[in-house]
Amino acid sequence: AGKRLYLGMDFGTSGARYALIDKQGAIYSQGKKEYPLYTSEEPMDWVRSWKTTLFSLLEDVPSHLRPLIASISIDGTSATTMIVDSNTGDPLCRPYLYNESCVDALPVVKSIAPANHTVCTGSSTLCKLVSWWNIEDSNKNSALLLHQADWLLWLLHGKLGVSDYNNALKVGYDPELDSYPPWLLAQPYSQLLPTVTAPGTSIGCLKEDIRSQFGFPEDCVVCTGTTDSIAAFLAARATQPGKAVTSLGSTLAIKLLSTSRIEDARFGVYSHRLDDKWLVGGASNTGGAVLRQLFTDEQLDKLSEQINPMEASPLDYYPLKAAGERFPVADPNLAPRLHPRPESDVEYLHGILESIARIEAKAYSLLKDMGATQVEEVFTAGGGAKNEKWTKIRERVLGLPVSRALQTEAAYGAALLALKGAQQIVN
Ligand code: ADP
Repeated sequence: AGKRLYLGMDFGTSGARYALIDKQGAIYSQGKKEYPLYTSEEPMDWVRSWKTTLFSLLEDVPSHLRPLIASISIDGTSATTMIVDSNTGDPLCRPYLYNESCVDALPVVKSIAPANHTVCTGSSTLCKLVSWWNIEDSNKNSALLLHQADWLLWLLHGKLGVSDYNNALKVGYDPELDSYPPWLLAQPYSQLLPTVTAPGTSIGCLKEDIRSQFGFPEDCVVCTGTTDSIAAFLAARATQPGKAVTSLGSTLAIKLLSTSRIEDARFGVYSHRLDDKWLVGGASNTGGAVLRQLFTDEQLDKLSEQINPMEASPLDYYPLKAAGERFPVADPNLAPRLHPRPESDVEYLHGILESIARIEAKAYSLLKDMGATQVEEVFTAGGGAKNEKWTKIRERVLGLPVSRALQTEAAYGAALLALKGAQQIVN
C-alpha cells in the first residue's frame, strides 16, 4: 500500500481549520477559513455557515493529496448543541452556541442530577436540551440531539445519531459507566440522546457522492471527534500519564493526563475520559490578560530579555484582571495583588512571571492532592509559550522539564483522532 494521510478539522469559535498529516505526524497541508458572514441576522445561518465552511475546507485540501486520505475526524466547540429531525438530520431550531446560557432549565436539571454535576450550569448541553423540550410542543417524537462536531461528521458519513464521550460529557453521559446514567435515562427527553463511542472511532465510509465529487478514496472512513480544547491537548501529543499541557493565553489553564479520575466542583476541576486514562483540567483567572494591561507585547519581549531566570524574585503577587479566582484558590472575592511595584520594570515583570509560575505550581500540586497522577513534564501552549525566560522561571519553580508544545492546533489533534480510527480498522 502507498502513502496514507489523515484529515482533521477544527470548528472553533471564530473560524475553522484543517490539518492533513501522515502516520508519523508530519503535516502535508493545512489551512483555515473564517465563517462566512451572512447579511441577515437569521440565527439559523450558523448552521449554513458551518456547512459551507466544511465543504470549502474540503475544497482547500490540495486535490493531488485527497486520494491518499484514509480517514477524517472533526472537533467542535464544547456544548454547542443542535436539535435535528431524526429522519432527515435537518435542524428543528437554531443551534445553541457553546457560551449560551439556558438558566430557565437550571432548576429542573438541578432537581434530577446529582449535586455539583457538570450539567448543573446554564450553558451545559443538558440545560439546552431541557430548555428546548419545555418550549417545544411539536416535533418531540422525531427529534435528535447532536453536538456541532457530530452533525458536521454526519454530513460526511450519513449515519444519524452518533457522538463521542468527550462531547457528550456536558449532556450527562457517564464516561466511567460508559452509558447515560439512570437519572438521565428516566427522563422523557432521553430518547433524543445520541449513541456514544470513544473519540477516534470509525463510524462509516465517507458518503459516495462526496467521495466522488472531491476525489477521496473508496476506503476513506469518517471517525468520531472530540471538543476543541481536548483536540488542542491531543495536538501536543502528551500521551503518557504525568504529562501535562499548560496554556498561557489570556488565562492560565492546565490539563494533565492521569490514571485516575478527579472531580471537584468547588475548584471547577473535572476529568474527561481518553481511552483508559483521564484528562484532568482546571483553569485559573490569572494569565496573560494582566500582562497585556501593563505592557505591550514588544515591551514584554524587551523586558523579558533582561530577566535572569535563575534568580528567584522576592515579589509575591496574585495577578488578576478583576477580583475572583476559582482554581487553585476557590475564592470569588480574591483581590488582585500587584503591589508593591518596584522602580524597575524588569523586576516588576520578573515578579509577575514568577508569581504566575507559583500559581501554576500550586495548581499541579492541588491536582495531585485531589488524587491525580503526579505531573512529570509540562508542555506549553498559548501566547506565553514563546517567552523562553518565563519557561526557565517555570522550570525552576515547578522543578520539572518545561518546553513549548510542538503542535497546538486543535485541527492537528483531530487529525490524530482520524489516524487512531484508521489504525483500528487496519489492526
Ligand atoms: P488567548 O487566545 O487566550 O486570547 P493567546 O494564546 O493568543 O491568548 O496569548 C495572548 C497572551 O499572551 C496575551 O495576554 C499576552 O499578554 C501574552 N503574551 C504575548 N507575548 C508574551 C511574552 N513575550 N511573554 C509573556 N506573555 C506574552
